[in-house]
Formats: sequence, structure tokens, C-alpha cells
Amino acid sequence: MQDIVNEIAEQIKAETDRGKVADYIPQLAAIDPNQFGISIALPTGEVFSAGDAKTLFSIQSISKVFSLTVALGKMGDAIWANVGREPSGDPFNSIIQLEHEHGIPRNPFINAGAIAVVDAIMMGHEPKETLAEILRFVRFIANDDTIAIDEKVALSELATGHRNSSLAHFMASCGRMKHSIEKVLGVYYHQCSISMDCVQLAKSGLFLVSGGVNESTGQRVISEQRARRINSLMMMCGHYDGSGEFAYRVGLPGKSGVGGGILAIAPGIASIAVWSPGLDRIGNSKLGTKALDMLVKRTSWSVF
Ligand code: GLN
Repeated sequence: MQDIVNEIAEQIKAETDRGKVADYIPQLAAIDPNQFGISIALPTGEVFSAGDAKTLFSIQSISKVFSLTVALGKMGDAIWANVGREPSGDPFNSIIQLEHEHGIPRNPFINAGAIAVVDAIMMGHEPKETLAEILRFVRFIANDDTIAIDEKVALSELATGHRNSSLAHFMASCGRMKHSIEKVLGVYYHQCSISMDCVQLAKSGLFLVSGGVNESTGQRVISEQRARRINSLMMMCGHYDGSGEFAYRVGLPGKSGVGGGILAIAPGIASIAVWSPGLDRIGNSKLGTKALDMLVKRTSWSVF
């Protein structure tokens, strides 16, 4: 396993076409695209890493998997009244579908869906408490209390977040927001601004590898059925309008973020985190996807 990650890191380091870093969030525009990290966490607790696996990055939309899990824990299937479970086939920040579907986002992994999830889990609480709950959960699943939020990234998103404000206002115009838009977006930007390295991120996915149990700590996080369902949503919706292509090339449940990270789950086998900040035209990590493609070719871990 160590040889495999070493080889992948070496090959990816040599790539010249590295994609384009997300520049619509000023703090992310400054990140060096020449970085690459990979970590594979096994249920035994072993972690195999290579490249810049200990460098912190902004997990961005990968956090949507964690906030959805928190929402399911708090309100169970009632969350599906607020958000759908279908692939969107549209960009992550698209507003088009919201109008057709009366302010109900297609799935929890596009921006509108994740904003609706935050609105649902706030339940009248202050943003600080909701955010603390999400962060606590992430620290718990990764078994790492050092995980923190990069306030600078959150403020950078807030300052330039016109598109997310529009999505939230559109949902509010359909009578679908229970809390003030400002408070909900405050939580949303901060959850997207959680910083993790590949090792931490790979560990955080272990509960989805073994039917809801993090075997490395022995803790049950969610039920087996819920883990299966979250994996299926990651497979269908985790890469926005690139989800079909990701399933075709990699064949694993995965969730990307515009920070360049991808969390992929090989059910029953491993949790994998890759990070390369350059994105493809859809907003998914260009070389992160390539690395996962290489890994699956070497290991046959595709679920298909
Ligand atoms: N925080 C980012 C945004 O709201 C998340 C997008 C992403 O990672 N795809 O635009």
C-alpha cells in the first residue's frame, strides 16, 4: 500500500496540467497548485500517506457530508422534506433548478442543499452552537481534537458570497428558510472553512467504510443503513455535474470541495483522501481525480 501511494504521488507531482485553483474565494486563489497529498486510512487504524499529506487545506464542500450526517442524526428522515436526493446535473452554485422546484434543492451536496441543511439543523439555536456541533462531530469522526476552522477563509467567502446569498434569498422567497439568512450563511461558510490535512480527512471517512462504525476507535457513529445511504448520495451527487464522470472513472462514493480535496470511500476496505488544489472546469480537483483513477486501477477497489 505504501508503495502504491508513493508511486501515485510521484507521478502526480510530475504532471504539468494541474487545473486552476478556485479564485472566486480570494483566500483560495493564493494557494500553490503544485501541491499534492494522498492518505489511505484502513479500518485497522493504519494510514498510508504520501506527498503533502500533512498540509492543511480548506475542505469546502466535503463538509457537506458531515453536516448531512449531523442533520440525519438530529432529525432523521424528516430532513428529506427540506432537500432532495437526486443528482442535479447542474453546477454546484446553480440557481436554475431552485426556481423549477419551488426552492427545494435537488440534493444536500450542492450549495443550496447544504444551506438548507444548515437551516434545518439550527433549530432556533445561535450560529455558534450549530457550528460547534458540526465541528465537534468532525473531530469525533476523525478522532482528532486539533481540527479547526480557518476564519480567514470563512471571512473571504462571506465577503464574496453573492451567489450563495442569492440561493438563500431565493429559498426564502419560497418560504423555505426558518432562520435569518445571515446566520445560516455564517454557519455554512464556517463549516466549509474547516481545515484538514489528508490524514485527518481520510480518518474522518472511516465510519462510512465499515457500515457506520469507525473500527479504528470501536465507536458506532451511525446505523449501517444510514452509512449505505450517505455513500449512495456521494456516488450520485458528490461531484455535481461531474458525478457521472467520477463514477465512470473511479467508481467510488466520493465528495469533492473547491479547496481541491476529495474524500472517497471504498466500502468495506478503506477511506481515501486526496488533495490537489487545481480544479477542472466543473470545480472538482483535476489531479485528485486522476490520482483516484490510478489508485482504483491498481487496487480494483471500484464498487462496480
Ligand atoms: N464554500 C464553497 C461555496 O459556497 C463551497 C463550494 C464547493 O466546494 N464546491 O461556494
